[in-house]
Amino acid sequence: MQVVRTTEALRLALTGDGAPGSIGFVPTMGALHSGHLHLVEQSRSANDITVVSIFVNPSQFNNAQDLERYPRDEQRDVALLTDAGVDVVFVPNTAEMYPPGFSTWVTVEGLTNVLEGEFRPGHFRGVATVVTLLLQMVRPQRAYFGEKDWQQLLVVRRLARDLMLDVEIVGVPTVREPDGLAMSSRNERLDHSARRAAVVISQALAAAQAEYTAGERDHDALERKLHNTLAQEPALTTEYALITDANTLQAPASSNAPLRALIAAHIGGVRLIDNIPL
Ligand code: AMP
Repeated sequence: MQVVRTTEALRLALTGDGAPGSIGFVPTMGALHSGHLHLVEQSRSANDITVVSIFVNPSQFNNAQDLERYPRDEQRDVALLTDAGVDVVFVPNTAEMYPPGFSTWVTVEGLTNVLEGEFRPGHFRGVATVVTLLLQMVRPQRAYFGEKDWQQLLVVRRLARDLMLDVEIVGVPTVREPDGLAMSSRNERLDHSARRAAVVISQALAAAQAEYTAGERDHDALERKLHNTLAQEPALTTEYALITDANTLQAPASSNAPLRALIAAHIGGVRLIDNIPL
């Protein structure tokens, strides 16, 4: 496995031995867990070469403290990716991604006005810009994104389509801990009691999903189920808990719209998000 830190070294690694075949790409912010490794497995099974990037992208953090506290452990990440059979790891520094004078930003409208976009102003401008840059640098045939960040997956699909980037965006279902908590690098920051309480997020999603499966179609009743379940855990502060059209992220326009339940909440000083299809 090659670890490269510059765009030039990345290009050499990907063109060194002539045509490399198909490239699968998994962008991450490091502090890797089994969710990330599942994306890597998907990429390896469908492509000749798998490239993973590790870059904690400052422009997508709207909170300086959150950026500072974001977990980082490059040595451990590189060991995990070596074991996972990755071919190239791209670990750029901030100046490599945003050289002096950098002034072009990618903004996806509409989809980014709600949910994460509403509570984290500027977040998706940072995400859309860095993903566009990384896709230009790696030029993969396929790029892998987790459903864990459902809105991000929709935003990336939209930008790839609108900018006519010649890449297939592959969505991968969320990998969970045995108790249901969605795996996340931020889980590392939960202390023992916050970790135990955090499970209520996936429990609320599962409760709404169970009601839907049992035949409940009333939008307000399904959202009430989310809120009532979350309210059972006083240590948790809900930012949003919504049932939306899975594709538009707006209130469902018809009774047969595909639905998604989405939650963002704070617990023990950590902000967690999760979602589930109904
Ligand atoms: P991050 O390092 O948090 O930016 O995540 C990098 C990629 O891994 C994103 O596409 C995430 O959606 C995805 N990811 C994060 N957590 C999970 C998970 N629990 N299951 C599946 N994919 C995930």
